Amino acid sequence: MNNLIDGSALAATIRAQLRVRVAALARPPGLAVIVVGDNPAAAVYVRNKIRACAEVGVMSERVALPADISQSALHEYIDELNQRSDIDGILVQMPLPALIDARLAIDRVAPHKDVDGLHSANLGALLSGRPQFVACTAAGVIALIESTGRTIRGQVATVVGASAVVGKPAALLLLSRGATVTLCNSSTRDLAAHTRAADILVVAVGRPGLIGADMVKPGAIVIDVGINRRADGRLAGDVDFASVAAVAGRITPVPGGVGPMTVAMLVANTVTAAEQSIARTIQTQATS
Ligand code: NAP
Repeated sequence: MNNLIDGSALAATIRAQLRVRVAALARPPGLAVIVVGDNPAAAVYVRNKIRACAEVGVMSERVALPADISQSALHEYIDELNQRSDIDGILVQMPLPALIDARLAIDRVAPHKDVDGLHSANLGALLSGRPQFVACTAAGVIALIESTGRTIRGQVATVVGASAVVGKPAALLLLSRGATVTLCNSSTRDLAAHTRAADILVVAVGRPGLIGADMVKPGAIVIDVGINRRADGRLAGDVDFASVAAVAGRITPVPGGVGPMTVAMLVANTVTAAEQSIARTIQTQATS
């Protein structure tokens, strides 16, 4: 299909660029992935992240913790990683067990090691227009849109789904690039009226088939963030791909769209964190 936006290919290009940056560093960047409990979907995501790190030359470490770990014990592990000079990035893999407060855990990570871009300080920096580490999926969404060559400025963009992880940061990034943005949630009335108005439609809800062809403006760019496991075991997005692809100008597939870009952006943030850490060390040595 010639209107496909190939996230796997774009992610491979980004990884190749990152390899060059890593080769120029005095030491390999280090990423720690904290996994609590035993979630099969999370295990797949973590494997993909560790594989992408290895391909680029980033050292990665999987910290597996038991499902019944207490909040304070989890924080102690995070504190330890915050202190380590060989670890540039720390990722707390979601989902966490119900008894763990995810927000507290994420906010325990030192903001300069929050390569997932989900620390309250990094979300706030994005809101204030001075982003440091941008949430990986939202950053991937923007890179996919920009890869089409279409100018975001002046476009009407609708983001369906308003989570702090995806929808809100994606909406803020689109806004910061000059789009006129509508952010929809589960209480939005007449969702189709908002999606049909969009030159750029980003969907991040977690409901397969939510967006049909009659909800999409002809020629629109459609970015499908949703990952849903179908009854036959295959993955599907939130967009009814077969019908919407016939209407959309450009569209991402699931799998092979946003997923690989999320991973690429995580590795990119880790490389950036390492570059900043190494620069800080050199500066400290020069002034001491
Ligand atoms: P989430 O935290 O559950 O948030 C879902 C959002 O969708 C909420 O804002 C919710 O509204 C809204 N929503 C629910 N039903 C709706 C409806 N009928 N119309 C409009 N909005 C509706 O989910 P998430 O973490 O953002 O993830 C969303 C999807 O993206 C999931 O399928 C997830 O697996 C996928 N995902 C993919 C990647 C990737 O790398 N490809 C990364 C992260 C997430 P309220 O705010 O009113 O509750």
